[in-house]
Amino acid sequence: VTAAAAAAEDCCVKVAVHIRPLIGDEKVQGCEDCVTVVPGKPQVQIGAHSFTFDHVYGSTGTPPSAMFEECVAPLVDGLFQGYNATVLAYGQTGSGKTYTMGTNLKDGYQTGIIPQVMNALFSRIETLKHQTEFQLQVSFIEILKEEVRDLLDPTSSSKADSPSGNTGKVTVPGKPPIQIRESSNGVITLAGSTEVSVSTLKEMAACLEQGSLSRATGSTNMNNQSSRSHAIFTITLEQMRKLNPVVSGDGNPIETMNEDYLCAKLHLVDLAGSERAKRTGSDGLRFKEGVHINKGLLALGNVISALGDEKKRKEGVHVPYRDSKLTRLLQV
Ligand code: ADP
Ligand code: MG
Repeated sequence: VTAAAAAAEDCCVKVAVHIRPLIGDEKVQGCEDCVTVVPGKPQVQIGAHSFTFDHVYGSTGTPPSAMFEECVAPLVDGLFQGYNATVLAYGQTGSGKTYTMGTNLKDGYQTGIIPQVMNALFSRIETLKHQTEFQLQVSFIEILKEEVRDLLDPTSSSKADSPSGNTGKVTVPGKPPIQIRESSNGVITLAGSTEVSVSTLKEMAACLEQGSLSRATGSTNMNNQSSRSHAIFTITLEQMRKLNPVVSGDGNPIETMNEDYLCAKLHLVDLAGSERAKRTGSDGLRFKEGVHINKGLLALGNVISALGDEKKRKEGVHVPYRDSKLTRLLQV
Protein backbone atom coordinates (compact mmCIF):
# COMPACT_ATOMS: atom_id res chain seq x y z
CA VAL A 1 0.00 0.00 0.00
CA THR A 2 1.47 3.31 -1.01
CA ALA A 3 0.39 6.76 -0.07
CA ALA A 4 1.74 9.52 -2.25
CA ALA A 5 1.58 13.11 -1.17
CA ALA A 6 1.22 15.04 -4.39
CA ALA A 7 1.97 18.67 -5.07
CA ALA A 8 -1.18 19.02 -7.11
CA GLU A 9 -3.14 22.27 -6.85
CA ASP A 10 -6.45 20.63 -6.03
CA CYS A 11 -5.27 18.57 -3.10
CA CYS A 12 -1.92 18.35 -1.42
CA VAL A 13 -2.25 14.72 -0.32
CA LYS A 14 -3.05 11.84 -2.64
CA VAL A 15 -3.43 8.22 -1.66
CA ALA A 16 -2.84 5.31 -4.02
CA VAL A 17 -3.18 1.63 -3.18
CA HIS A 18 -0.72 -0.84 -4.64
CA ILE A 19 -2.00 -4.42 -4.33
CA ARG A 20 0.68 -7.06 -4.45
CA PRO A 21 -0.01 -10.53 -5.81
CA LEU A 22 0.05 -13.58 -3.55
CA ILE A 23 3.63 -14.73 -3.00
CA GLY A 24 5.40 -18.06 -2.43
CA ASP A 25 4.11 -19.36 0.88
CA GLU A 26 0.72 -17.82 0.48
CA LYS A 27 0.22 -19.67 -2.80
CA VAL A 28 1.51 -22.91 -1.31
CA GLN A 29 -0.93 -22.59 1.55
CA GLY A 30 -3.72 -21.96 -0.90
CA CYS A 31 -4.46 -18.42 0.29
CA GLU A 32 -6.86 -16.38 -1.76
CA ASP A 33 -6.92 -12.69 -2.49
CA CYS A 34 -9.19 -10.95 -0.03
CA VAL A 35 -9.13 -7.65 -1.87
CA THR A 36 -11.20 -7.10 -4.98
CA VAL A 37 -10.97 -4.04 -7.15
CA VAL A 38 -14.22 -2.42 -8.21
CA PRO A 39 -13.96 -2.26 -12.02
CA GLY A 40 -13.47 1.22 -13.44
CA LYS A 41 -13.21 2.83 -10.03
CA PRO A 42 -10.33 3.57 -7.66
CA GLN A 43 -12.14 1.45 -5.12
CA VAL A 44 -11.38 -1.81 -3.33
CA GLN A 45 -13.65 -4.18 -1.51
CA ILE A 46 -12.70 -6.24 1.51
CA GLY A 47 -15.59 -8.35 2.67
CA ALA A 48 -18.58 -6.10 3.07
CA HIS A 49 -16.51 -2.92 3.24
CA SER A 50 -15.45 -0.78 0.34
CA PHE A 51 -12.77 1.89 0.35
CA THR A 52 -12.16 4.61 -2.20
CA PHE A 53 -8.72 6.09 -2.93
CA ASP A 54 -7.25 8.43 -5.50
CA HIS A 55 -5.81 5.46 -7.41
CA VAL A 56 -5.67 1.68 -7.19
CA TYR A 57 -2.86 -0.32 -8.82
CA GLY A 58 -1.56 -3.82 -9.00
CA SER A 59 -4.64 -5.63 -10.13
CA THR A 60 -4.50 -7.28 -13.53
CA GLY A 61 -4.60 -4.79 -16.33
CA THR A 62 -2.40 -2.05 -14.88
CA PRO A 63 1.16 -1.96 -16.19
CA PRO A 64 3.85 -1.87 -13.49
CA SER A 65 4.84 1.65 -14.47
CA ALA A 66 1.33 3.09 -14.17
CA MET A 67 1.70 4.13 -10.56
CA PHE A 68 4.98 5.86 -11.23
CA GLU A 69 3.64 7.67 -14.30
CA GLU A 70 0.46 8.90 -12.65
CA CYS A 71 1.54 9.53 -9.08
CA VAL A 72 5.26 10.14 -8.95
CA ALA A 73 6.39 11.50 -12.34
CA PRO A 74 4.40 14.73 -11.72
CA LEU A 75 6.35 15.19 -8.48
CA VAL A 76 9.64 14.85 -10.36
CA ASP A 77 8.39 17.52 -12.79
CA GLY A 78 7.48 19.63 -9.76
CA LEU A 79 11.04 19.38 -8.44
CA PHE A 80 12.24 21.22 -11.53
CA GLN A 81 9.75 23.99 -10.75
CA GLY A 82 10.99 24.20 -7.18
CA TYR A 83 8.25 22.21 -5.43
CA ASN A 84 9.10 19.90 -2.55
CA ALA A 85 7.31 16.57 -2.38
CA THR A 86 7.13 13.38 -0.35
CA VAL A 87 6.24 9.84 -1.34
CA LEU A 88 5.37 7.54 1.55
CA ALA A 89 5.00 3.78 1.44
CA TYR A 90 2.62 2.81 4.22
CA GLY A 91 1.33 -0.62 5.13
CA GLN A 92 1.86 -3.55 7.41
CA THR A 93 5.02 -5.63 7.28
CA GLY A 94 4.97 -7.86 4.22
CA SER A 95 2.55 -5.71 2.26
CA GLY A 96 5.22 -4.67 -0.28
CA LYS A 97 6.50 -1.26 0.84
CA THR A 98 10.17 -1.98 0.25
CA TYR A 99 9.46 -3.75 -3.04
CA THR A 100 7.32 -0.86 -4.23
CA MET A 101 9.86 1.80 -3.29
CA GLY A 102 12.63 -0.22 -4.92
CA THR A 103 15.06 -0.18 -2.02
CA ASN A 104 15.28 -3.94 -1.98
CA LEU A 105 18.20 -4.78 -4.21
CA LYS A 106 17.06 -8.34 -4.78
CA ASP A 107 13.69 -7.71 -6.38
CA GLY A 108 11.53 -4.95 -7.70
CA TYR A 109 14.63 -2.96 -8.35
CA GLN A 110 13.81 -2.03 -11.91
CA THR A 111 10.15 -1.21 -11.41
CA GLY A 112 10.59 0.32 -7.99
CA ILE A 113 9.65 3.95 -7.42
CA ILE A 114 13.11 5.23 -6.48
CA PRO A 115 14.96 3.76 -9.49
CA GLN A 116 12.26 5.19 -11.74
CA VAL A 117 12.57 8.59 -10.09
CA MET A 118 16.31 8.51 -10.73
CA ASN A 119 15.81 7.62 -14.40
CA ALA A 120 13.25 10.39 -14.91
CA LEU A 121 15.43 12.90 -13.09
CA PHE A 122 18.53 12.27 -15.14
CA SER A 123 16.79 12.12 -18.50
CA ARG A 124 15.18 15.48 -17.71
CA ILE A 125 18.52 16.93 -16.67
CA GLU A 126 20.02 15.69 -19.93
CA THR A 127 17.53 17.73 -21.94
CA LEU A 128 18.00 20.88 -19.84
CA LYS A 129 21.68 20.93 -19.05
CA HIS A 130 22.65 23.32 -21.84
CA GLN A 131 20.60 26.09 -20.24
CA THR A 132 20.72 25.14 -16.58
CA GLU A 133 23.37 24.13 -14.12
CA PHE A 134 22.28 21.35 -11.79
CA GLN A 135 23.49 20.18 -8.44
CA LEU A 136 22.15 17.03 -6.87
CA GLN A 137 22.56 15.79 -3.34
CA VAL A 138 21.44 12.55 -1.82
CA SER A 139 20.98 11.54 1.78
CA PHE A 140 19.69 8.25 3.10
CA ILE A 141 18.81 7.86 6.76
CA GLU A 142 16.85 5.57 8.99
CA ILE A 143 14.80 6.55 12.03
CA LEU A 144 14.63 3.85 14.68
CA LYS A 145 13.37 4.50 18.17
CA GLU A 146 13.38 8.25 17.50
CA GLU A 147 17.07 8.08 16.67
CA VAL A 148 18.49 8.98 13.29
CA ARG A 149 21.03 6.61 11.71
CA ASP A 150 23.04 7.61 8.67
CA LEU A 151 22.82 4.88 6.03
CA LEU A 152 25.45 6.54 3.82
CA ASP A 153 28.13 6.92 6.47
CA PRO A 154 30.70 4.17 5.94
CA THR A 155 31.86 4.53 9.54
CA SER A 156 28.36 4.40 10.94
CA SER A 157 27.81 1.60 13.39
CA SER A 158 26.35 -1.75 12.53
CA LYS A 159 27.45 -2.55 16.05
CA ALA A 160 27.23 -5.83 17.86
CA ASP A 161 23.84 -6.71 16.45
CA SER A 162 25.20 -7.25 12.94
CA PRO A 163 24.69 -10.77 11.54
CA SER A 164 28.26 -11.90 12.03
CA GLY A 165 28.61 -10.07 15.30
CA ASN A 166 31.50 -8.11 13.89
CA THR A 167 31.49 -6.68 10.39
CA GLY A 168 34.83 -5.00 10.82
CA LYS A 169 33.09 -1.65 10.77
CA VAL A 170 34.19 0.83 13.33
CA THR A 171 31.93 2.90 15.48
CA VAL A 172 33.48 6.32 15.77
CA PRO A 173 33.64 7.03 19.48
CA GLY A 174 32.13 10.30 20.57
CA LYS A 175 30.59 11.00 17.19
CA PRO A 176 27.67 13.29 17.91
CA PRO A 177 24.24 11.94 17.07
CA ILE A 178 22.53 13.32 13.98
CA GLN A 179 20.30 16.21 14.84
CA ILE A 180 17.40 17.80 13.08
CA ARG A 181 17.82 21.57 12.95
CA GLU A 182 15.55 24.30 11.76
CA SER A 183 17.10 27.50 10.48
CA SER A 184 15.52 30.92 11.00
CA ASN A 185 13.93 30.75 7.54
CA GLY A 186 12.25 27.47 8.38
CA VAL A 187 14.54 25.20 6.39
CA ILE A 188 15.04 21.81 8.03
CA THR A 189 18.51 20.32 7.90
CA LEU A 190 20.08 17.20 9.28
CA ALA A 191 23.22 18.14 11.13
CA GLY A 192 25.84 15.44 10.97
CA SER A 193 24.40 13.25 8.24
CA THR A 194 26.15 12.48 4.98
CA GLU A 195 25.05 14.45 1.94
CA VAL A 196 26.56 12.94 -1.18
CA SER A 197 26.92 15.14 -4.25
CA VAL A 198 26.10 13.10 -7.31
CA SER A 199 26.32 14.00 -10.97
CA THR A 200 25.39 10.76 -12.69
CA LEU A 201 22.64 8.18 -12.48
CA LYS A 202 25.26 5.60 -11.61
CA GLU A 203 26.48 7.59 -8.63
CA MET A 204 22.96 8.07 -7.32
CA ALA A 205 22.17 4.38 -7.77
CA ALA A 206 25.32 3.58 -5.81
CA CYS A 207 23.98 5.63 -2.88
CA LEU A 208 20.70 3.75 -2.97
CA GLU A 209 22.55 0.44 -3.01
CA GLN A 210 24.96 1.35 -0.26
CA GLY A 211 22.20 2.61 2.02
CA SER A 212 19.95 -0.36 1.35
CA LEU A 213 22.78 -2.72 2.19
CA SER A 214 23.62 -0.78 5.31
CA ARG A 215 19.99 -0.98 6.39
CA ALA A 216 19.87 -4.69 5.79
CA THR A 217 23.04 -5.49 7.72
CA GLY A 218 22.23 -3.24 10.63
CA SER A 219 20.54 -5.92 12.69
CA THR A 220 20.43 -9.63 13.34
CA ASN A 221 16.95 -9.88 11.99
CA MET A 222 16.61 -7.68 8.98
CA ASN A 223 12.88 -7.84 8.70
CA ASN A 224 12.57 -7.14 12.35
CA GLN A 225 14.53 -3.95 12.22
CA SER A 226 13.29 -2.72 8.86
CA SER A 227 9.71 -3.24 9.96
CA ARG A 228 10.35 -0.99 12.95
CA SER A 229 12.25 1.79 11.27
CA HIS A 230 11.49 4.47 8.72
CA ALA A 231 13.97 4.75 5.83
CA ILE A 232 14.14 8.12 4.09
CA PHE A 233 15.92 8.62 0.78
CA THR A 234 16.12 12.32 0.03
CA ILE A 235 17.07 13.94 -3.26
CA THR A 236 17.89 17.65 -3.23
CA LEU A 237 17.89 19.36 -6.63
CA GLU A 238 19.50 22.77 -7.01
CA GLN A 239 19.19 24.67 -10.27
CA MET A 240 20.88 27.76 -11.59
CA ARG A 241 19.20 28.92 -14.73
CA LYS A 242 20.89 31.53 -16.83
CA LEU A 243 18.22 33.89 -18.07
CA ASN A 244 18.52 35.43 -21.55
CA PRO A 245 22.28 35.35 -21.98
CA VAL A 246 23.43 38.86 -22.83
CA VAL A 247 25.51 39.08 -25.98
CA SER A 248 28.32 41.58 -26.19
CA GLY A 249 29.15 43.72 -29.21
CA ASP A 250 31.43 41.10 -30.73
CA GLY A 251 28.77 38.41 -30.38
CA ASN A 252 30.23 36.61 -27.36
CA PRO A 253 27.85 35.80 -24.53
CA ILE A 254 28.46 37.70 -21.30
CA GLU A 255 27.86 36.00 -17.97
CA THR A 256 24.64 37.54 -16.69
CA MET A 257 24.13 38.46 -13.07
CA ASN A 258 20.50 37.60 -13.42
CA GLU A 259 20.47 33.95 -12.45
CA ASP A 260 17.40 32.07 -11.46
CA TYR A 261 18.02 29.81 -8.47
CA LEU A 262 15.70 27.01 -7.39
CA CYS A 263 16.13 24.37 -4.72
CA ALA A 264 13.68 21.58 -3.95
CA LYS A 265 13.63 18.27 -2.13
CA LEU A 266 11.99 14.96 -2.81
CA HIS A 267 11.63 12.59 0.14
CA LEU A 268 11.06 8.93 -0.69
CA VAL A 269 10.04 7.08 2.44
CA ASP A 270 9.74 3.41 3.31
CA LEU A 271 7.77 3.66 6.55
CA ALA A 272 7.82 1.30 9.49
CA GLY A 273 5.20 -1.45 9.43
CA SER A 274 1.78 -0.12 10.30
CA GLU A 275 0.93 -3.05 12.58
CA ARG A 276 0.56 -2.14 16.20
CA ALA A 277 3.02 -3.28 18.82
CA LYS A 278 1.40 -6.25 20.48
CA ARG A 279 1.89 -6.48 24.18
CA THR A 280 1.74 -10.24 24.10
CA GLY A 281 4.91 -11.82 22.90
CA SER A 282 6.99 -8.65 23.02
CA ASP A 283 9.53 -8.15 25.69
CA GLY A 284 9.92 -4.75 27.25
CA LEU A 285 12.51 -3.52 24.78
CA ARG A 286 10.61 -4.51 21.70
CA PHE A 287 7.50 -2.98 23.08
CA LYS A 288 9.36 0.26 23.61
CA GLU A 289 10.42 0.23 19.98
CA GLY A 290 6.84 -0.35 18.97
CA VAL A 291 5.70 2.60 20.99
CA HIS A 292 8.28 4.83 19.36
CA ILE A 293 7.35 3.72 15.88
CA ASN A 294 3.76 4.36 16.62
CA LYS A 295 4.80 7.81 17.69
CA GLY A 296 6.17 8.52 14.19
CA LEU A 297 3.25 6.92 12.39
CA LEU A 298 0.73 8.54 14.71
CA ALA A 299 2.26 11.97 14.20
CA LEU A 300 2.34 11.34 10.46
CA GLY A 301 -1.36 10.49 10.49
CA ASN A 302 -2.13 13.73 12.30
CA VAL A 303 0.02 15.79 9.94
CA ILE A 304 -1.55 14.25 6.84
CA SER A 305 -5.03 14.74 8.16
CA ALA A 306 -4.26 18.41 8.90
CA LEU A 307 -2.76 18.89 5.42
CA GLY A 308 -5.30 16.84 3.52
CA ASP A 309 -8.39 18.49 4.95
CA GLU A 310 -9.01 21.60 2.92
CA LYS A 311 -11.38 23.06 5.49
CA LYS A 312 -8.85 22.61 8.26
CA ARG A 313 -6.17 24.16 6.08
CA LYS A 314 -8.28 27.22 5.33
CA GLU A 315 -8.97 27.64 9.03
CA GLY A 316 -5.20 27.64 9.52
CA VAL A 317 -5.26 24.59 11.77
CA HIS A 318 -1.95 23.82 13.47
CA VAL A 319 0.04 21.10 11.67
CA PRO A 320 1.78 19.05 14.39
CA TYR A 321 5.11 18.47 12.64
CA ARG A 322 7.06 18.60 15.88
CA ASP A 323 5.48 15.56 17.44
CA SER A 324 8.06 13.12 16.00
CA LYS A 325 11.42 13.02 14.25
CA LEU A 326 9.78 11.62 11.14
CA THR A 327 7.30 14.46 10.69
CA ARG A 328 9.85 17.07 11.71
CA LEU A 329 12.20 15.89 9.01
CA LEU A 330 9.53 15.68 6.35
CA GLN A 331 8.32 19.19 7.11
CA VAL A 332 10.38 20.52 4.21
P1 ADP B 1 7.35 -4.71 3.37
O1 ADP B 1 8.54 -3.88 3.03
O2 ADP B 1 6.08 -3.93 3.34
O3 ADP B 1 7.50 -5.46 4.66
P2 ADP B 1 8.23 -6.29 1.11
O4 ADP B 1 8.44 -5.19 0.13
O5 ADP B 1 9.44 -6.83 1.77
O6 ADP B 1 7.18 -5.83 2.23
O7 ADP B 1 7.41 -7.43 0.38
C1 ADP B 1 7.08 -8.66 1.01
C2 ADP B 1 7.27 -9.78 -0.02
O8 ADP B 1 6.36 -9.61 -1.09
C3 ADP B 1 8.65 -9.81 -0.62
O9 ADP B 1 9.04 -11.15 -0.75
C4 ADP B 1 8.47 -9.16 -1.99
O10 ADP B 1 9.38 -9.70 -2.92
C5 ADP B 1 7.05 -9.54 -2.33
N1 ADP B 1 6.37 -8.51 -3.15
C6 ADP B 1 5.98 -7.29 -2.72
N2 ADP B 1 5.36 -6.58 -3.67
C7 ADP B 1 5.33 -7.36 -4.76
C8 ADP B 1 4.82 -7.22 -6.10
N3 ADP B 1 4.20 -6.10 -6.50
N4 ADP B 1 4.98 -8.25 -6.96
C9 ADP B 1 5.59 -9.39 -6.57
N5 ADP B 1 6.09 -9.59 -5.34
C10 ADP B 1 5.98 -8.62 -4.42
MG1 MG C 1 10.23 -3.51 4.13
